[in-house]
This record gives sequence, structure tokens and C-alpha cells, in this order.
Amino acid sequence: MIPAFSELSLIEPLQRALRTENYTLPTPIQTQAIPHLLAGRDLLGIAQTGTGKTAAFGLPILQRLFEDKTPAGPKGVRALILTPTRELAIQIGESLRSYGRHLHLRQALVYGGVGQKPQVDALSRGVDILVATPGRLLDLIGQGHIKLDRVQIFVLDEADRMLDMGFIHDVRRIASSMPKRHQSLLFSATMPDDIAKLAGTILVDPVRVAVTPVASTVELIDQRVLFVDTANKRALLTSMLRDPGIGRARVFTRTKHGANKAAEHLERSQINAEAIHGDKAQSARQRALLNFKTGRSRVLVATDIAARGIDIDGITHVINFDVPNMPESYVHRIGRTARAGATGIALSFCGPEERAFLRDIERLTKRPLTVVTDHAFVSTSGHAAAPANANHGAGRRDGGRGHGGRRDGGHRQGGQCQGGQRDGGHRAEGGHRTETTRPAEGGHREGGNRRNGEQRSGRRSGGGRESLWTNHEGRRAS
Ligand code: AMP
Repeated sequence: MIPAFSELSLIEPLQRALRTENYTLPTPIQTQAIPHLLAGRDLLGIAQTGTGKTAAFGLPILQRLFEDKTPAGPKGVRALILTPTRELAIQIGESLRSYGRHLHLRQALVYGGVGQKPQVDALSRGVDILVATPGRLLDLIGQGHIKLDRVQIFVLDEADRMLDMGFIHDVRRIASSMPKRHQSLLFSATMPDDIAKLAGTILVDPVRVAVTPVASTVELIDQRVLFVDTANKRALLTSMLRDPGIGRARVFTRTKHGANKAAEHLERSQINAEAIHGDKAQSARQRALLNFKTGRSRVLVATDIAARGIDIDGITHVINFDVPNMPESYVHRIGRTARAGATGIALSFCGPEERAFLRDIERLTKRPLTVVTDHAFVSTSGHAAAPANANHGAGRRDGGRGHGGRRDGGHRQGGQCQGGQRDGGHRAEGGHRTETTRPAEGGHREGGNRRNGEQRSGRRSGGGRESLWTNHEGRRAS
């Protein structure tokens, strides 16, 4: 049985704030972490955003700081939360303010891309909680505006991301400027060697909490792939987003340039969209986020780094305009939908050169993607040939409403569909003549994708029509 928040020894003002937030029950990471953190233990948390980890560390921090009234002293900090991006810093700051609304602790934010004066002013009298990104924090420490010698609690959030973004040395420097005795928490979605080593140097006898390992968080998400030639991706995006069935979409691109181009293209097509990425001024990023949060824009286009951790409720669709080359990024991206138990849809546009990335993703998530073949821009190029035996995953799953136009946001434009059977034969679904495009030979390494002998033999007997991307109720033929 899941314990209630009241059973986690949280003080009444925190419980009151949680009621206001409409949190009825703690999430697994909260149940597992909060008692240990209240007891002062170090913690190694394998968890990503979306699991409720902010409250898992935030609530005990707030409570401990509230109960122990030791002042921070001028320029001092009692709890430091280090996070890789400014968006994440802002978001954590907002969450902590909400959870701690009845405690009246002093809190400050420090991140780059904005003037430092207000941050310096906020720090001059010292703060109970500082949420910071590494670069600006080190700048301000270097200039003598912040002292970490009184830190009682240190949280390193998204440690693997810190590594990806090249912050690991900064993190080490920051960690080494804290007093010997303090409580430390390290959260990471994955545990590469460098992070495991870092954890070994920062944490003392930590409690280990692992929730929803990266590959299994995706279960609630309906994941689909659309094979499309790269040149047609923008047109596909626009046609898809014309469907009001897509309520609120996050679109991910690999590059900043790609994010701008996609957003501009949507705007030209009268679809309200905003782009955020690292080259945009902080004020522009905040404005874009606000527009998206308030519904003024329906689509937020972002690169991985800019988007990491941004938590916005009610995202109905995540669209991978580019298939990420790191499978972990895919999991993080699609985790932007299906927040806190809701379901969501993730659509990936896969160009001819991106097939290998898709395979890596399936290997990580151990879950095949449903191939959507009934869209207007089905790739006809040899490399990205739609699978011979793909069927309408969406159509099959929507209880016979047709070809999945409803569930996949109605992005079936052309009405053409390709279908087939495990044996490589053709099959008509819902009255559509099924066709197959050229088989995806050559461009594919078979090994990693075949699951059994049937598929192997099917491929041979099917005269090359066998596909690597099939689905039956959203599964590959196997
Ligand atoms: P996080 O992983 O901290 O980014 O949290 C993900 C989302 O879950 C945020 O929108 C939180 O507001 C929400 N959340 C966190 N804990 C709970 C809870 N116990 N019940 C309901 N929602 C929660």
C-alpha cells in the first residue's frame, strides 16, 4: 500500500502546501526517498524528471531547513541545488516556492544569460536555498558574492546531463568548495562510469533509490514512427498540426537552426509556435515558455538541451522532428508527455539516415514503435521505404474507427496506406488498398532487428518484402 504524505513525517505546513498542489499520494521516489532524507542520509537517485523527484528532495530539504534555524550568514547558502539548465533551475525554484509557501525560507536563483546584479543583491544577506547552474555559480563565487562554506545540503540534479554538457569539472570544483560534513544527494537518469565515480567522491554511504529505469518510463506513451523524406518533414509537421486533435505539442529538433526553421514554417502556416534554444536570450526563452504554458502558442519547438526538464502539464503530443541519435534523449523527450500518470502520444519523423537511431531506441526501450503508414508524406525513397508488413497500428488500436486518424491526431492526409502480413503478403485494412514500398534492404543491418526465425524466413520468402518495422497492435512481428 502506498503511504500517505502524512505517514512520511512531513510537517503540517508542507502537507497543507501539497494539498493545494493536489498531490494526494506520494510518487514511488517520494515514498522511498523522503524518510531517509529527513533522517539526514545521503542519497543516490536514479530517476529522471517526471517521477516527482523535485518534491522527493525538495520537501525534506524545506523541512530540515525550517526545523534547524542556523542562519546562512551574509552571502551564505544553506542548501544548494545544482542543475544543468536555467529552465530547470527556474522550474525547481518554482516548485520549491510552492511546496515551501508556508515556511517563509529565503530562496534565490542563479543562472547565466541574464544580468547578475539582481542575483547578487538577492544573495547579499544569504539564502536558505540556492538553485543554480554551474557556470554562473562559479562566476559569482569567484567574484566573492557567494560563499559555500556553510552548505548543509547539496543536491546535484541531472548529473548525467551535467556530464553531457561538459559541466563535470565545474561540478567537481563546486563540490570541493563545500564543507566536509553536509548531506549530499545526486540524481541522474543514467549512470555512466564518470557519474558513478563522481557519486563515489561526493556521497557517503548513500541510500540508493531507483525508480522507473530510463527504458520503462515509456510504457504509458503511445509511440509511433512516420517514415518520411527529410525534405518533407516540415510539410508533414504542418499538415499534422493542422489537426485540432493535437492539443499541445512539443516538437524536438536536433539543431537550433532546425528549431527556428520549423517554428517559422509553422508560423507561416498560421500555426502558433515558439522556438526555444540556447542562442535565444533568456527573456525570449521565458516569453516563449510563458506563451506555451498559457496556451497562447500551441507548439513549442526546442532542442534537447534547451528543453531538458521543462515541465509543462497537458502536453498531448511529443513530436520528434529528428530522431535523436542518443536513445536516452528519446526517452527524455517523450517523457515530456504522459506526465504524472497521464497518457500521451509520441510521434517520430524518421528520415532515411535515421533508421539506425530508431533501432538503438527500440533496443533501449525494448519496445517497438508503431509504424504510421497512412500519412501524406510516406517516404518513397529506397532507404526509408515504409515497411512491407506495417499495418495501421493506430487504426487497429482505436477500436475500428478507421485508420487511426483520431488517436494519432488525425494526421492521415493522403489516405494511402501500406499494410501487410507477417508472411510478407499484402493486406487491405479498412478498405484501403495496401501497398508496399520498396523493401528496406541495403540500408539496414538485419541482425539487431530480427527477433526470430519466422521473421528471417519471412524476409527470404517474401522476396525482400519483409520489413524491419512492422506492427501488430503496436508490436513488431515476432
Ligand atoms: P518532477 O519529476 O519533480 O519534475 O515532477 C513531475 C510532475 O509531477 C510535476 O508536474 C509535479 O508537479 C508532479 N508531481 C510531483 N509529485 C506529485 C505527486 N505526489 N502527486 C501528483 N503530482 C506530482
